[in-house]
Amino acid sequence: MTNDPNDIFMLTNRSKVMEKKQMTLAERLYLPAIAGGMSITFRHIFKKSATVQYPEQLRPIAPVYRGHHVLKRDEAGAERCTACGLCAVACPAEAITMTAAERKKGEENLYREEKYAAIYEINMLRCIFCGLCEEACPKEAIFLTDRLIPSNYGRQGFIFGKDKLVETMDNPVDVTKRQTPAVLEFKKDKFHQHNVTIKDLIDIEEH
Ligand code: SF4
Ligand code: SF4
Repeated sequence: MTNDPNDIFMLTNRSKVMEKKQMTLAERLYLPAIAGGMSITFRHIFKKSATVQYPEQLRPIAPVYRGHHVLKRDEAGAERCTACGLCAVACPAEAITMTAAERKKGEENLYREEKYAAIYEINMLRCIFCGLCEEACPKEAIFLTDRLIPSNYGRQGFIFGKDKLVETMDNPVDVTKRQTPAVLEFKKDKFHQHNVTIKDLIDIEEH
């Protein structure tokens, strides 16, 4: 390094001396720039459009896509969630909150276990759709589906409660793609109490 003050600009050999050229008349009228821009526009007219007319037109999504959660019911229509909180503990984004309640007599057809989630909320703005809640759930109550989260103008609209999460009786959400053979096999094991449905209990009583 010398004592020449210009040396400081040569450290990376990337410095470039800019030349201030006089602009031609055409350049001053922006003609080359306009012609260049128009040529790009015309080239794109004949290319396949990248725009998708959502929501009428949907992009194909990957088979492993994880979207809108669903809280499942069992075969008899009772809510599977027992408000154990394991999904909330597993959630890295702290997106899940719930309030547990005791099932009352006569509500056996509504809730599968003695304890159920009176309030169950997922903040979709916090959720990163990692699927850990689904993995943590011992009751096969929560699954991520291929449904998209609808857009909304307000933050409050992204707090999804049971009204948006629990599947309706007349329109069950198919989660078979997310149930591995190991999970399906485990479900058949009635030794585990949470695999026993109301339908099983009725069958036992009848026989
Ligand atoms: S998908 Fe992940 S981030 Fe979203 S609620 Fe479940 S555990 Fe939390
Ligand atoms: S969704 Fe599953 S893990 Fe979460 S509280 Fe309900 S039963 Fe427990």
